[in-house]
Order: sequence, then structure tokens, then C-alpha cells
Amino acid sequence: MSLLDHLTARIRADGPVSVAEYMRDCLLHPQFGYYTTRDPLGAKGDFTTAPEISQMFGELLGLSLAQSWLDQGAPAPFTLAELGPGRGTLMADLLRATRGVPGFHAAMRICLVEASPALRAAQASALEGCAPAWLDTADALPEQPLFLIANEFFDALPIRQFLRAGGGWSEKRVGLKHGALSFGLGPAAPQPALAHRLQDTRDGDLVELCEAAAPVTAAIAARIARHGGAALIVDYGDWRALGDTLQALRAHQPADPLSTPGAADLTAHVDFEALAMAAKTAGCAFSRLTPQGVFLERLGITDRARALAGPLQGAPLESLVAAHRRLTHPDEMGNLFKVLGLYPSQAAPPPGLNP
Ligand code: SAH
Repeated sequence: MSLLDHLTARIRADGPVSVAEYMRDCLLHPQFGYYTTRDPLGAKGDFTTAPEISQMFGELLGLSLAQSWLDQGAPAPFTLAELGPGRGTLMADLLRATRGVPGFHAAMRICLVEASPALRAAQASALEGCAPAWLDTADALPEQPLFLIANEFFDALPIRQFLRAGGGWSEKRVGLKHGALSFGLGPAAPQPALAHRLQDTRDGDLVELCEAAAPVTAAIAARIARHGGAALIVDYGDWRALGDTLQALRAHQPADPLSTPGAADLTAHVDFEALAMAAKTAGCAFSRLTPQGVFLERLGITDRARALAGPLQGAPLESLVAAHRRLTHPDEMGNLFKVLGLYPSQAAPPPGLNP
């Protein structure tokens, strides 16, 4: 039995599934899911992420959060949380960089929201001695001040896709054609959740809807609004997305999303407008959506790179320069990736972001 067998049987029995149901099975099926069964990161895996490219990323995000904690009067105790911590690299870099912030480590309780048993094990070894608590969902975060990071978490949440058809929408679905997985369209119907998209789309346009994103954002935002705190959400995407952004990556190469279910990473661009609106409804302020390169430059990544470069020569120096470029340059991750900050309405946004 493979995930393909499982999906084929499911579609034969119940008919085509939504793109979100397909994505959820591919990524998180308890037995065959992509994240459940492996550590997908790094050169030997399928993709790499900012914290895996350079320690500077986690260090600067950590210092921004810690400054925000100081600015809000150093509340204690507080939750230091991460959504989808991957190998735990970002959190380890954040903890090293904040060692010198008086009281920060003594007051923090680390919570990691992670669905993958394989990655929980990697996080446990990266964070040995820090006693993190693992949670299944953001709803389980403690009711206390919350300082949180999420890098490339929201892009892994399942999306539904809809094609505009007059005043309604046809949902894109995964079915079977000659026994193979194939995209098709459901009947046109009204979609109340897409009412606002009737203004900026035309017949035949494709829009995406990530139903899981708003409840997660609301859970975080409610804690920040009630108890103080801040969140730094980093991902690729934009303010209100248009078009098909579902993407599969295998061994660092784009792949057909239907060709190897459960064996390739599947992601979609994040619609930051939906996150910001969920935060606002929960009573929380949100920052201007800021390109990652601008954010990191404001936090001093170039000075940090110079300091790290000091003793280096040859290949290690070249790789540091390449990492700095990759994280910040508009042709690399600098513009594609964006940062959204959440913070209490009476507080300032975390350093690096504007209201
Ligand atoms: N933040 C890390 C890893 C990004 S990969 C980095 O930057 O390197 C996505 C992460 O989110 C993985 O840890 C994955 O297991 C986790 N994840 C994906 N969907 C999830 C869900 N629904 N609930 C909890 N964790 C999830």
C-alpha cells in the first residue's frame, strides 16, 4: 500500500477530492505523509529554508522578538513559540543570540507546534537541554504573553482552489482519469468565503483559499491581544494572491504536484491579507507587509555578516557572502519572502517592521 493506492481507493469510493484534501493527505497522512515520514530539509532533502542557509536569519529574528519583549516590560513568564520548527535550527540560533538579554531565558517557556514525529525528533536533538513542550496545534498555546516565530509554516497548510465562473466558483479537484490522478472541476456554486474576490477577478481566474490559516492566526493573535507579545510570520506570498501557486519540489527541482504523492513537498503562496484580517478580528495589530530583504537589512544583517566574515577566507567566506545575498537580494529570497508582524494595538511593532 502506498499513498497513491490510498488516494486512488478513496477517490473510487467517494469521488474526487479537493486540492486541500489531496494536499493534507500528501503532507500529513499518518502513515505515508511527506512530513510525517521524513526530514525533508537540506542538501540531501527536497528544499532548503532561510535558517538552514545561515545562522544570521534566526539570530536577527530572535533579537527582534527579544527587543519587543523588553519594550513590553519583560513580562514573565512568557511563551516562546515556533510553528513548524523544521530541524530546530532557527530556534537554536535564536536562543544563542538572546543568551545575553537579561531575564529572557529565565522567563521563557518554549512551545513548538509540530505535526511531524520525524521532525519532532530532530528538534529534540537540536534543542537538547532547553526542555521544549510540543503541541499539536496553536490552540493549545498557553494563555500568557506569547512571542512567536513561524518561517515557512503557513505555506504548508492545505489550500482549496476555485475558478471564477460568472458570479460563482468551480472548485478544482483531484480525480482519476484512465486510473491516474488528474485535475478536474466541480460544479459552479456560490462561495461566501470568496465574496470579496468577486471585485478583483474575472471569469476563468483562479483563486486560492487556505481555510486552516485564519484559525491558527486567530489563536496566536488572541493571546497577543490579551496578554501581550508579538509574532513574526515569514513566508513566500503576497497581499491577496491570484492564480495557481501550488508547487511541488523534489530534490530541489520543481515537480508535477500529482506525480509523486507523499514523496514531494507541496506548498502554496501565503495570502497575507487573510492572516492580517484574522489577526485584526482577534483584536491584534499587524505590521506593514515587509520584504524579507528589507526586514533583515533594517535589523543589521550586513553588519552581522561583516562580523562573521572577520576571520574567514576562501570557501567559507564565499559561502557567507552567498548566504547574505540569498537571504536579502531581490532576485533571490529578498522580495519573494515577506514578513508580517503581529503585536498588541497599544505597543510598537517588533523592530524591523512598521505599523
Ligand atoms: N520552519 C522550518 C521548517 C519549514 S517546513 C524552517 O524554516 O526550516 C514546514 C514545517 O511545518 C515542518 O516542520 C512541518 O513538519 C511543519 N508542519 C507542516 N504542516 C503542519 C501542521 N498542519 N501542523 C503542525 N506543523 C506542520
